[in-house]
Order: sequence, then C-alpha cells, then structure tokens
Amino acid sequence: MNDSDVDLHIAIAGAGMGGLTTALALAKQGFKNIDVYEYASNLGFVGAGIQLAPNMARILDRLDVWKPIFDEAVVLKETSIVQGSTDQELAHVDLDYVEKTYGYPHCVGHRSSLAGSIYEGCKKESSAIKFHFSHSVESIESFGPRPKFVVKPRDGEAYTVETDVLLAADGVKSRVREYMLKELNVDAKVVDTDQAAYRIMLKREEMQNDPELLELIEADKVIRWIGEKRHIIAYPVSNKQIYNLSTTQPDKNFAAAPSATYTTKGSKSAMMDTFHDFCPKIKRMLDLVPDGEVCEWKLRVHEPLPTWVHETVALVGDACHPTLPHLAQGAAQAIEDAAVLGVVLSRIPDRTPESITKALKVYEEVRKDRAYALVELAAASGRAMHLGDGAAREERDKAFAALKEGKGAVPDKWADADVQRQIYGHDCMQVAQDTFDESFAKF
Ligand SMILES: Cc1cc2nc3c(=O)[nH]c(=O)nc-3n(C[C@H](O)[C@H](O)[C@H](O)COP(=O)(O)OP(=O)(O)OC[C@H]3O[C@@H](n4cnc5c(N)ncnc54)[C@H](O)[C@@H]3O)c2cc1C
Repeated sequence: MNDSDVDLHIAIAGAGMGGLTTALALAKQGFKNIDVYEYASNLGFVGAGIQLAPNMARILDRLDVWKPIFDEAVVLKETSIVQGSTDQELAHVDLDYVEKTYGYPHCVGHRSSLAGSIYEGCKKESSAIKFHFSHSVESIESFGPRPKFVVKPRDGEAYTVETDVLLAADGVKSRVREYMLKELNVDAKVVDTDQAAYRIMLKREEMQNDPELLELIEADKVIRWIGEKRHIIAYPVSNKQIYNLSTTQPDKNFAAAPSATYTTKGSKSAMMDTFHDFCPKIKRMLDLVPDGEVCEWKLRVHEPLPTWVHETVALVGDACHPTLPHLAQGAAQAIEDAAVLGVVLSRIPDRTPESITKALKVYEEVRKDRAYALVELAAASGRAMHLGDGAAREERDKAFAALKEGKGAVPDKWADADVQRQIYGHDCMQVAQDTFDESFAKF
C-alpha cells in the first residue's frame, strides 16, 4: 500500500504511453480504484519504432514490465550522423558506455512491444485498474473540489463521472487541456512546426538480398542521415526483423489542412521527391514502401503552458509537453510524468481536495521545467540538423570534424554525452521522493 494508506478514486483520460503507465504506477503504489477511459476501441498502435532510453527503462523496470520489452529490443552499440547526399559519416558516437554509466543500455524497440508490455502489467493489476475502451472524455463540468466530467461511450448515452482526481493523458490534441486553458483564461496556441514525418517499417525479407541494406538491419546502430531541412533516422527493431525509418521534412501537405488533421496517406512520388538528392541506398529503401502505404505525420506542438494543474485535475504527457521527435524523449517523458504521479499521490496525508491539489503541484514542480527543457533541446537539435549551405552549417560541420578528433560537443543533441547525462542520469522518482515534504508544505 502507498505510504499514507489513503485510497483515492482516480480517473485517467487516455490509454497511450502516459495513461497506461500512470495507471500502472498508481496500482503499484497500492491504489485500488483506477478507471481508464480510452477513446479508441483497443490499443491499436501505428506500427513504428521507438527509442527506449535508460531513463524510461529504469522506471519500467521498477514497474516490473521492462524484461519483455528488453527481450525484443535491439541494444544499440553505436550511432552515426551521416551526410544524406553522400553517405559520408560526419560523426560517430559509441553508446556502449551508456549501460555502464546509467545502469541500462540505450535500446530501440517496437511501439507495440512497449505499450503491450505496460498493458500486460496493468492487466495483472486488474482488481485495481478498470479499462473503458471506446469511451471518450467529452467535456469537463468541474475541476474541483472533486472533478466532474462527461464520458461518452461510442454506442451509448453520455454520463457524468465524479472522482477524487482526474489525470488527463489524452495526447497532443487533449480535450481536457482545452477546457483547462479556457477555465484559466490562458491562450496557449498549437504551434505549427512546419515539419512532417514519414514513418516506415521495412521487413527483413525485403532487405536481405541487398548487401548494403542487409548490413544496415544487421548493425546495432542508429543512423541519422541529414540534409537541408530534412533528415532520416533509422534503426532495426523486433530482434532485427524490422528496419524502422522515421523522416523529417518541411510540411507541405498539411500546411493548409485543418488543425485536427495529424496523419494522412502520403504520396510515394512526393516522398521520393523529398529525398531525391539523398544517396542511392536510402532511395532504394524508400522505394520498398508500397504505393498507397506511405503514411505521413504532421508534427505539431503547442506553446509551453503556465500550469499543468487546476484544482484536482492534472495534465500528463503530450497533453502538456508535446515535442518534436528529434531527442526521442516524448514517450519517455510521459512515462516520467506517470512515475512521479505515482510517488506524489502515494505520499498525501489524507484524501482532501486540498492535499490532492498540493500533491499535483509537487508533480508539476518536479516535472515541468525538465520536460520543457527537453522540448527546447529537441527543437534545437532539429535546427542544427536541418541547416542548408552557409556559415552556420560550416560551423556545425567543423564541430562534427572536431568530434572525430575526440573534441567538443555533438551538434546532434541526442548523441551528445552531456545531454545524455542530463536526460538519462535523472531519476525523477528519486527527485520526487526527496523533495516531496518540502514542496508539499510550501504549496
Ligand atoms: C515521428 C515520431 C517519432 C517518435 N519517436 C519517439 C521515440 O523514439 N521515443 C520516445 O520516447 N517518443 C517518441 N515519440 C513521441 C511519443 O510517441 C509521444 O510523445 C507519446 O506517445 C505521448 O504519449 P501520450 O500518452 O502523452 O499520448 P498518446 O500516445 O497520443 O496517447 C493519447 C491517448 O489518448 C486517447 N484520447 C485522446 N483524446 C481522448 C479523449 N477525449 N477521451 C479518451 N481518450 C482520448 C488517444 O486515443 C490515445 O490513445 C515520437 C513521436 C513521433 C510523432
């Protein structure tokens, strides 16, 4: 049971990475009355790879769900940053040190393996966690003292739920965030990043007769091919049975689309055109994507929010800190949110709304600056990777050259050891434990 032996009725909106992990973290802390409302009818995840960084692995291990994820993951030994047009290596970073330094290796895996394992962990806590699929959180009637919100089953009548606390992990388009900002009279707009992404998964059989492509899927390596305003990051997942590519390019197709549009069937010729000047082996890989199966994602974020908490409602994950993917930390940060919520809610002395709000404020204090610092680092990394000809790019390439001689920082923040220390070395649960009493007393 949690430290304070207080049980709460906890509602969670969304069963993505943030919502699933929040439910599991709370059940592991001893909470017994957790309802998860998910709009989708099941955990149907878009097939794609995901990086599993040590700060994520540390939490999932404590929640007893890391082992099956790790068993299917590919452990990275190295990463290269390569000029997309020439295939010339600009920088090479050894990742073997990561496990020795942070206790977990840097791995890559399949999203369904990550989400599936967390969900299996939740199912083992079935006496505590109840899932309501095909149920959407439609509107918020009250943020406190006890939150009241309307839930709409896909095929049924809407009804109102009243709980002790509502945790909104309903993603980048969060409905709860909209209601919260309206109530607080805050205008934090969706920001167009002007970037979009193709996400591609190639099967081993499609690559194995091409020696250059086989070498890619066989390597324990992340490669980032960069070019002006574009890059491609690629790595093997699922025990090297799948090669995952995720691109970033200027958004052309969504620019005029309504803001509700986040994914679309892309055109293959437009994709080939976007990377027309990249090296032949990349073009051969892109050409393996069947016509009609090109999937493009719009990359949208929103401005930092002044607060993530109002009364007894808190935002979680992409609902409050959506990020560009260039640091590969979006899901990891949602998982950190979840772990910290588990710690702070387990420490409340009683179930009064005042205590719940104070605990949620501690959550915000532990998480907000860190999450927004990483959002900014991801954006900065994108800017450095996407430079065209000119002085700034010359500077960047000098930095890559110096790195080859073992000097200086990596312009790709994701691969830089100092940035990795900041991200992987941080134990958010420990920070929450250590600071709880002082912060709780302050609010
Ligand atoms: C191209 C790309 C590559 C990425 N690569 C990585 C990576 O390598 N590593 C990494 O850590 N992160 C990565 N990310 C980021 C990561 O995918 C997200 O940050 C993460 O999934 C956010 O989790 P979440 O739970 O906050 O939101 P989501 O996963 O979006 O989940 C939100 C859930 O809420 C549900 N929902 C929405 N509205 C409602 C409602 N009103 N009622 C009920 N349910 C609702 C949705 O159906 C969904 O299931 C990447 C993202 C992109 C776009």
